Amino acid sequence: SITSTKKLHNGIEMPRFGLGVYKMTEPEEAFNAIKKALDTGYIAVDTAALYGNEKQVGEAVRASGKRREEIFITSKVWNTDQGYDETLRAFEKTLKELDTDYLDLYLTHWPVPDKFMDTYRAIERLYEEKLIQVPGVSNHEIHHLEKIFAQANIQPMVNQVELHPYLTQEELRQFCQKHDIAITAWSPLGRGEVLKDETIRAIGEKYDKSIAQTIIRWHLQSDHIVIPKSVTPSRIEENAEIFDFELSHEDMKAIDGLNRDQRFGSHPDHFN
Ligand code: NAD
Repeated sequence: SITSTKKLHNGIEMPRFGLGVYKMTEPEEAFNAIKKALDTGYIAVDTAALYGNEKQVGEAVRASGKRREEIFITSKVWNTDQGYDETLRAFEKTLKELDTDYLDLYLTHWPVPDKFMDTYRAIERLYEEKLIQVPGVSNHEIHHLEKIFAQANIQPMVNQVELHPYLTQEELRQFCQKHDIAITAWSPLGRGEVLKDETIRAIGEKYDKSIAQTIIRWHLQSDHIVIPKSVTPSRIEENAEIFDFELSHEDMKAIDGLNRDQRFGSHPDHFN
């Protein structure tokens, strides 16, 4: 169901499905989309300091009438705030914006060279102080994770990376699986670009499902946590109607086969 979870390394249950809120910059648009998702039954929201809408996430959670503990909130420390003390300060601001006293999951947004290790150490401290339930990272390649494994006391439990049928990240996924790091797929629909794929459309038709639903279902069956973004109420509902069908092994393989190592976002070794 829409509330199904994945057990993380420390036993915390993370919702497998949530709303991504990147580029919802207009406050009313953000509030309305998040509120709509929570009313539809979503129990997870993926935001970041960069997105400028943490305040609206907090407001929508309170307006939903749900208790804070019923909603899983993820946020991220932006690149210009990285470093140990800087991250602790950025986290304080994030909590203030959200108007909450803890975060479910806090991530290093991108592995800023020479800083991501100190950033992660601060995230570790926030975890030890019980201000976050789960420590994690985003856009970390195997070599970044190996550095963290060599130096950290507590391992990252989630890595959020660009992942969709055109970029299946086989090697990174295997590494993460081996180390019990859950994968969250960002741009799960390829920023909308994969929605033009005729092969996936044809597969979805067999199940009476839209192409967006077919892609999101492929993520779930691949054991990815998935956070599609939409501000359109009908699509927010559509994207959640994915728990009443199952793609066959053959159809899963056909979608896996569409990989072309194509990124719509930056490469983690070359971002600015
Ligand atoms: P996405 O792959 O979720 O695609 C979103 C776009 O697809 C929408 O803008 C809309 O145009 C379209 N769409 C959505 N549902 C649809 C439907 N049912 N029918 C037709 N069109 C539909 O793209 P995204 O927003 O880039 O990624 C999702 C989330 O991932 C973000 O909102 C953010 O939370 C996260 N993210 C994280 C990072 C990172 O660096 N950690 C980077 C990018 C995104």
